Parts: sequence; C-alpha cells; structure tokens
Amino acid sequence: MTKALRMMEEEAKIVDAIIYVLDARAPFSCVNPSFCDFLGEKPIVYVINKADIADEEKVRLWQKFFTKKNSIAIIMNSTKTGAAKTIEKAILSLKTKKVDKFSEKGITVNLRAMVIGVPNSGKSTLVNNLCGKKRAITGNKPGVTKGKQWVKIASGLEVLDTPGTLWPSFDDQRIARNLAYINSIKDDIYDKNELALCLLEDLQKINENILTNRYGIEKKSTSIETLDAIATKKNLVIKGGEKDYDRTCGMILDDFRKGRLGKITLEVPRG
Ligand code: GDP
Repeated sequence: MTKALRMMEEEAKIVDAIIYVLDARAPFSCVNPSFCDFLGEKPIVYVINKADIADEEKVRLWQKFFTKKNSIAIIMNSTKTGAAKTIEKAILSLKTKKVDKFSEKGITVNLRAMVIGVPNSGKSTLVNNLCGKKRAITGNKPGVTKGKQWVKIASGLEVLDTPGTLWPSFDDQRIARNLAYINSIKDDIYDKNELALCLLEDLQKINENILTNRYGIEKKSTSIETLDAIATKKNLVIKGGEKDYDRTCGMILDDFRKGRLGKITLEVPRG
C-alpha cells in the first residue's frame, strides 16, 4: 500500500463518517472490499453518483443494497447544485456515536466527514459542490495530515476538502473491466480495442437496442461484426479505405463514458 493510502486510512479513523462516492454505472465495482473491512462500524454515506447517466431502476436497487444498519445510500448528480443539503440530511440520519453521546447531554456536536472513492467517480466534483463558495477554510485540526483543510458545509458538519482516492480492486476480471469502462483504471493497463469489444458484448447483453439506437446499425451476432458495422456506419476509415478500428473503439468507449449511449448501469445487485 502506498504512503498516501496509509495516510488516508489514518484520516478515516478520526472522522465521524465516510462519504463513499460510487459511479452509478458500476456501483459494486467501485467498492474496495479491503477498505470496507478496515472501516468497520464507521457510518458510511454511499453517494451513488452520476445518476443522470445511469439506469434509474437499477440505481434504486443499488440504493437499497447499500442501505444497511450503519450506512445509507443516496442518489446523486454532483454536477447539480444542492448536494450539501442531501448529504447533511443523510449524515445526520446515521446516528453517529458522537451525536448519540453528546445529544444525551444536550450538546450539539460538529461532525467531520471524509470523501473517498475510486478515480473518476466524481469525488472532486462533489467536494466542489459541497464547498461551493464556502471553500474558506475552517482551520487545520489536530491529528489530521498537515495541509489538509476542513470546510463547513452545514451547521455542525465539516468535510475534508481533499477527497481520498481509493485504489481499485482487481480481484475479479469482471470488476476490473467495469472499472476500465468507467475510466477508473488507466487506459494503458487494458488494450483499448479489446476493452471496447468487451463493452460491446456487455452492452448487447444489457439491452439489444443500445447500439442500434446510437449507431443506427442492424443487430449483429458477434462484437467484431458489431464493431465493423459501427466503423462502416460512422465512415471511420484510414488511408486506402480500410476501417479504422482504433478510432472506432476509442469512440465507443468515449461515447459510453460521456453517457452518449444512454442511461446505463452495468451491474444489478445479486439475490
Ligand atoms: P474524481 O477523480 O473522483 O475526483 O472525479 P471528478 O470529480 O474529477 O469527475 C470525473 C468526471 O466525471 C468529470 O468529467 C466530472 O465532470 C464528471 N462528473 C462528476 N460527477 C458527475 C455526475 O454526477 N454526473 C455526470 N454526468 N458527470 C459527473
């Protein structure tokens, strides 16, 4: 584990709650199981982010899945204003130990939360949204890494203004692929063209109309044929008239990542 991650674990220990940002297109793949073990009983607000480009029905199933004894899940589009109120409500609904202990004595407490998530899940966007113009610093707190700042987002609630980036977990090939589709894993780890072919296959399984709707192609029986049809339809050719499969694959991945293929969620909770 890198030094940065160890520091993040240390910070996670001292906060009252965790704001765990997940990409709504692959919420399960965004969870790192070993980091969850480490969080133990810590209250967690799962933010199912990018809901605006995900499948509404599946997102609701994931919301149920992530809402447990010590956690709550909220559906979010971090690019829209107003996230602070939703997060505040969610955190306060989780009875943190601190609130319990002090409210008995009639004392209001300041809760501190930390935003974490895999790369590209929207952590910075969310933090910017939460902080808004209030990025004015509330001061360093003892025990926290020097240079990190806490920002008050509501009365009695502060967030660490530097989100923690979780290392993605590659235990399962399927999870690794999902993370690559949503751009959480560097493109150079995967062969882009192979990844695009896998994505075509997965999308076809989710809904046969996704590709025909976007690219105006007929349904094909293999992902290679689908790729070929898309290249033809989009007139993506190189010198000599050969199909430009590299560009076609890049375009397909980009279209998915930008939500241009429609509102898609790749995973459904099991059971
Ligand atoms: P980070 O790496 O987790 O900090 O992710 P960023 O905050 O940098 O966001 C990655 C990309 O996702 C950026 O292009 C954001 O504009 C975009 N993004 C973040 N949140 C949302 C959201 O709720 N909906 C959509 N459609 N895009 C989002």
